[in-house]
Amino acid sequence: MITKQQFWRRVDMRARLRSGRIFDVVVIGAGATGLGIAADAASRGLSVAVLDSQDFGAGTSSRSTKLIHGGVRYLSNPRNWSLIKEALFERRLLLQNAPQLVRPQSFIVPCYSYLQLLWYGAGLGLYNLLSSGGKGMHGVTFAGRMGALGQLPGIARKGLKGALAYSDAQFDDAGLAMALLRTAVSAGATVLNYAAVCGMEHDGRRITAVTVHDKIMDLKFNIFGKVIMNCAGVWVDPVRRLVDVEVSPLVRISRGTHIVVDRSFMPTGNAMVVPKTSDGRVLFCIPWQGRLLIGTTDIEQGQAPFDPQPTSDEIDFLIENANKYLTRQIRREDVKASFAGLRPLFSSKRTGLNEGTANMTRSYAVVPEFGNMLTVVGGKWTSYRAMAELALRTAQQMRLVPRCGCMTRSLPLVVQNRLELEALQKDLLQNGVPRTSAEKERLRSLVGVEVFTSGVCTAQDFLFRRLRIGELDAALAKELEPLVEGMVKDCLKGREARRFKSRYGF
Ligand SMILES: Cc1cc2nc3c(=O)[nH]c(=O)nc-3n(C[C@H](O)[C@H](O)[C@H](O)COP(=O)(O)OP(=O)(O)OC[C@H]3O[C@@H](n4cnc5c(N)ncnc54)[C@H](O)[C@@H]3O)c2cc1C
Repeated sequence: MITKQQFWRRVDMRARLRSGRIFDVVVIGAGATGLGIAADAASRGLSVAVLDSQDFGAGTSSRSTKLIHGGVRYLSNPRNWSLIKEALFERRLLLQNAPQLVRPQSFIVPCYSYLQLLWYGAGLGLYNLLSSGGKGMHGVTFAGRMGALGQLPGIARKGLKGALAYSDAQFDDAGLAMALLRTAVSAGATVLNYAAVCGMEHDGRRITAVTVHDKIMDLKFNIFGKVIMNCAGVWVDPVRRLVDVEVSPLVRISRGTHIVVDRSFMPTGNAMVVPKTSDGRVLFCIPWQGRLLIGTTDIEQGQAPFDPQPTSDEIDFLIENANKYLTRQIRREDVKASFAGLRPLFSSKRTGLNEGTANMTRSYAVVPEFGNMLTVVGGKWTSYRAMAELALRTAQQMRLVPRCGCMTRSLPLVVQNRLELEALQKDLLQNGVPRTSAEKERLRSLVGVEVFTSGVCTAQDFLFRRLRIGELDAALAKELEPLVEGMVKDCLKGREARRFKSRYGF
């Protein structure tokens, strides 16, 4: 059921942006960072505009490992403990504020020597001490060899001594991005996807106008804001260069790849963590949306394409490492889908920034520049709310926006259509492309809802970031694309908008 407040069209959003009003906050980039700031600022009562040059959440924020966690792999360095503690506090808040999207997940660490049992046991004990708990979170438990095989059926038996179990949380990353978008829109934010920021006017003191290119209409116009939040992830530096071509870079880029295979390779609701693979990285095998998600690699790269693709070597690396722990071996043809994302790693050493010039923690920073631009960089999905709170506090300290309290610690996120989308996803994965008119009508109806409540503009937006079929079964997504493309076009033409308005009575 759509309410009038949730229903919106591009044409209305564009008109609001072009009205000449001065927004309190203009957000560039609608990923975890930008949407988190939009939801925070709008819920404080500030006027907010959000722009993204692709679909909402199409950057790194729909390509993660889908964990809300402190990060067990950072435990070995005590300097990270405060960061882990903060992330585990955020995990507790997310389990409370978005229970439809963030759920507890049990993780099992298989151990092949007694030294591993002792070492990992100590680490997980510390993780538990740093934790703020949360609904469904449990402490660390130990299981012997037989218990380990019960918890992880399908795991390699040779040399297995036992396993350690702990809990963390898992989520749908693109789903959470949509929930933040809807939360911001419900609180009055103006949002536009496929709207690239391509220029800035600066009067020597501050940024006076932001030039936007609406890619759908091929139209350029200016918008105005008191503070400009640069949340463009790995693309923050090109955005800063729109004001000053000579700024030194703030981010390093690292690519991470995942593969998705059938759940039967590890038929359990538990996830497996291997703390150290052959290249020293953590390997996760996580049940996700009825499939098994395996990741991830970590490769530094210089360029930041909008649609990074996994390389053949990365896929082979993941298969090879997962196969060391699975009895049934994954072959290349078993990979149903794969995807890659780019981590925006904040590097203070590279820029020479210190506590005086940037409001920063070890993993993320809010960097003020050009009078009224704040670049919010680094961090992770789990920390998006804390990052938003810090960004708005910084804007208030600089007197760029009025003082008003943060609401997000207890703000329930607006989640819509979850059950319908999940049911449709399950049916499509089981039965393939809809054949009957009733099946097509069901698909058309959900496409329409997403066009008018979350800004779907292309078949890929719907298949990859609303239904998630693209990340679960690449071949099926390709087959569905022409059908969904036609449905999206019908909605954008306006005919479907009238049908929706009359169906929902407004
Ligand atoms: C492989 C991998 C796994 C990860 N796993 C986890 C995990 O399990 N848990 C966790 O907490 N974190 C995880 N992370 C980290 C997390 O995903 C990122 O920190 C987070 O998604 C970054 O969000 P962002 O909004 O800063 O960037 P993005 O999501 O990339 O958003 C930036 C947006 O800016 C837009 N943009 C760029 N230029 C312009 C412009 N000129 N005009 C308008 N818009 C523009 C882009 O289109 C993009 O949508 C993972 C990261 C990677 C790479």
